[in-house]
Amino acid sequence: MFNKILIANRGEIACRVATTARRLGVKTVAVYSDADAQAAHVQACDEAVALGGLAAQDSYLRWERILAAARATGAQAVHPGYGFLSENEDFARACAEAGLVFIGPPPAAIAAMGSKAAAKALMSQAGVPLVPGYHGDDNDPALLAREAERIGYPVLIKASAGGGGRGMRRVDRAEDFAAALASCQREAQASFGNAHVLVERYVTRPRHIEIQVFADAHGHCIHLGERDCSVQRRHQKVLEESPAPGLSAERRAEMGAAAVAAAQAVGYVGAGTVEFIAEPTTDGDIRFYFMEMNTRLQVEHPVTEAVTGFDLVEWQLRVASGEPLAITQDRVTLTGHAIEARICAENPDAGFLPATGTLGVLRWPEHVAFRRNADMERFHEPAPVRVDAGVRQGDAISPHYDSMVAKLIVWGEDRAQALARLDAALRDTHILGLQTNVTFLRRVAASASFTGADLDTALIERERAVLFEQPGLPLSWAAAGVIAWALAREAGQEGADPWSRRDGWRLHGGAQRRFDLLERAATPVHHTVTLLRHHRGTLGLRLGSGAPGSSAAGADQVLRWRGLGDDRFEVQLDDTRQVLCVHALGQQRAVFSATGSLVLEDFDPIAHAADGATEGGRLTAPMPGKVIALLAKAGQTVEAGQPLAVMEAMKMEHTLCAPRAGTVAELLYAVGDQVGEGAELLRLAEA
Ligand code: ADP
Ligand code: ADP
Ligand code: MG
Repeated sequence: MFNKILIANRGEIACRVATTARRLGVKTVAVYSDADAQAAHVQACDEAVALGGLAAQDSYLRWERILAAARATGAQAVHPGYGFLSENEDFARACAEAGLVFIGPPPAAIAAMGSKAAAKALMSQAGVPLVPGYHGDDNDPALLAREAERIGYPVLIKASAGGGGRGMRRVDRAEDFAAALASCQREAQASFGNAHVLVERYVTRPRHIEIQVFADAHGHCIHLGERDCSVQRRHQKVLEESPAPGLSAERRAEMGAAAVAAAQAVGYVGAGTVEFIAEPTTDGDIRFYFMEMNTRLQVEHPVTEAVTGFDLVEWQLRVASGEPLAITQDRVTLTGHAIEARICAENPDAGFLPATGTLGVLRWPEHVAFRRNADMERFHEPAPVRVDAGVRQGDAISPHYDSMVAKLIVWGEDRAQALARLDAALRDTHILGLQTNVTFLRRVAASASFTGADLDTALIERERAVLFEQPGLPLSWAAAGVIAWALAREAGQEGADPWSRRDGWRLHGGAQRRFDLLERAATPVHHTVTLLRHHRGTLGLRLGSGAPGSSAAGADQVLRWRGLGDDRFEVQLDDTRQVLCVHALGQQRAVFSATGSLVLEDFDPIAHAADGATEGGRLTAPMPGKVIALLAKAGQTVEAGQPLAVMEAMKMEHTLCAPRAGTVAELLYAVGDQVGEGAELLRLAEA
């Protein structure tokens, strides 16, 4: 086994590899870009080397720097993870030339599978079934159009060098072929530096079923069963599971044998995935065709780990260090059912537009670390919930890399139990500060098609009515959550019950208190929520909504709650009860329930007063209060809008920002000082 390896990747996969290396007593070296200097993967490793740069081509793709880092730290091998350099044959070759072991297949195997067209030619010789199509070298448009006619519409034009779901065009009619071809070739040239395409029959309502293979350097190759990755958006995977629902043992063995044949045809070594497209036959069976081989570890490898009990990264390290595979095909069994959900920073309602920002709140469901099956003969129940993340609360999702934040992997004794655990785990995944697909994933997992295992690549499209633009948590519940949270916080600060406060909202035994909450939308809505205390001590909630400033009163509801600790509350509105979890980030109050969530903002008339108070270029206190933080030093140059001080007043924090650009000439107060309304906090001079 190696003493030390370099991990040429970032994020969750770099953390994942580091975890197994540590268990095996292998030291790890991280590499990082300027954007990742404080990243989780850097901390997960024993040593770290800066690559500089931000964008992938200036950092994680600079392989001469990565090789230099490996030499400088004395690493013996390089793990490429996935993405980046993992399927780059030149990099694999350069590693070997530098005397480093590339933890992956031989360069020739990467090359053989690198072109989808060339790989298909090879596979057809090896007797692996292919989708009817044309994958020759000649890309003459007239010839391709004739081939499309021969194959029969609809057809799919695919970039031979493509990947990541890009460079594909479905064509339904002959008259659209020429334009689609030209556009596909343009994208292929621009994205992959190679305009070559292939044409194949478009399989309607297909399933994506892939086989995990593993080969050692001693001629032994086995498969570890399949993963169904049919739930996709934009040809990219969303949910993955193993085993594939409804796949017979016979068909599994057949697909496994085809995958092993594919790997052996290219002299494969290490972990690889052979992707098949499968279509249902009229007699309820499936027919499958080779699609491509990914010559690396796959994002969704944890579902295979969960049902086999094996640690695939451990196997990668063992095989790369020359050990033979420790097990034979007949000892591989799939136990129970595992599902993975890819948590991405994106907005599903806006065409899955990627989102960036800071993970201000990041709460994972209860989970346990990944356990491997130490005894190859006996299956040990894996973690019911596993989280593979490369980020911590407070980390940023930058625009430089992909939008995957983490993966949630659940295991159950059967699919129903796995589904129930997935639903609960997604319910308890709370992310605030940027847009994510967590709620969307939960809806997909709960959709009739997914729960009924009616799987194919059109599932999301078919279920769109229940997946997109769904209402969040109703306002009354969200408001109740915000009120419970705010009063619990006040009570905690005063160490007393909220009703004994001396701030005047309790009047004549009956009382009311107003909460101003803003719901951000295309047009923000200002909700005025009134908490009423009746004579008999019961509480009422009254909602009013409208444009900022206006208020239309609604009917009162009886409100009760009790704190459950950890920002959770059991709340009752009239006769219904549910558990709400409330997280605060700045002015935002996110309320999560079992059925949905809603983010409201503290709409603070005082903060709006602050807008006016900074006029004239002076930074003044908008109300009497205490200075709790000063964010600039004397002599510092600041930009307009830059936060300079934080004040606390009326149990609320207010950040005061520079009214204009300038230099901080003098700080007039210190942290802890009480200031009066209108007091100038610091003197700002022209820059
Ligand atoms: P990539 O390299 O981008 O992963 P693939 O060849 O694996 O490209 O295809 C990605 C996805 O596109 C598949 O998972 C499947 O959903 C869809 N797809 C690929 N080939 C076909 C086909 N012939 N008919 C229908 N859908 C296809
Ligand atoms: P898989 O085929 O393993 O299921 P994908 O086909 O979606 O996964 O692609 C592999 C993964 O590699 C992506 O999900 C992404 O996280 C990562 N990846 C690919 N290219 C890049 C890149 N240029 N920069 C960062 N990450 C990348
Ligand atoms: Mg693929």
